[in-house]
Amino acid sequence: MRIDLMTLFPEMCNAFLNESIIGRAQKKGVLEIHTHQIRDYTKNKQKQVDDAPYGGGMGMVMNAQPIADCFRAVCEQAGTRPHFIYMSPQGTVLTQARAVELAKLPAVCVLCGHYEGVDERVLDAFVDEQISIGDYVLTGGELPALVLIDCVARMVPGVLSDESCFTNESHFSGLLEYPQYTRPAEWEGRDVPEILLSGHHAKIEEWRRRQSLERTLHRRPDLLEHAELTKADREYLKTLTSSPEVHTKE
Ligand code: SAM
Repeated sequence: MRIDLMTLFPEMCNAFLNESIIGRAQKKGVLEIHTHQIRDYTKNKQKQVDDAPYGGGMGMVMNAQPIADCFRAVCEQAGTRPHFIYMSPQGTVLTQARAVELAKLPAVCVLCGHYEGVDERVLDAFVDEQISIGDYVLTGGELPALVLIDCVARMVPGVLSDESCFTNESHFSGLLEYPQYTRPAEWEGRDVPEILLSGHHAKIEEWRRRQSLERTLHRRPDLLEHAELTKADREYLKTLTSSPEVHTKE
């Protein structure tokens, strides 16, 4: 997958993208990420990329021209027109389901706004989708873009060692993940649940599924409305909702 990132702060983004799993995936060649300095595309001598808003008001608005020219250059370099996403608190809130779909695309370009935002005309002219990372406002689109890229990129085949690394996780199936433990089996008086040491895989799977259901019920009951549940899941949930002790456990 090819990802292009348009920003006024490429160094900030590269520092993250060149590390850890995403950095290794680029070295392996399963991901190709290019950051672009929008300022390089300004046509004015001062290299200014923003201006005061028409109609007055606080702050500065990013100009359309450098963004449009930067996107045109990305299309040329990529040899295709990538799906163009603008990170915005006004966009649709990112979900795992949307990230799964985006991870299937061959090329994505992400635009980071800054200051008061971006001249609406360039969004109307080029942007395919606006994505928010939550109902709050940050100073710029860099952190939101990195959140999006990290979430999408880890589902691109070859980035993680195995698909099960992400298909078993919270939100993928619509449920929260079961609790995880590692060595030692006893830590500061707290034991790992015995079932996990039993070696009985079917029983461990059943325990994990039930923990997932229980956690989701207590922490994010809203998710259960859309989760894929079996008959056994529903029956187990019924036992939880009719038992007051379980309700008050977390
Ligand atoms: N004036 C804009 C508004 O009220 O909708 C907010 C601009 S914000 C200060 C500057 C930039 O940060 C935005 O253009 C966007 O790229 C990014 N941004 C801020 N919060 C975000 C969020 N929750 N999700 C995605 N991007 C966000």
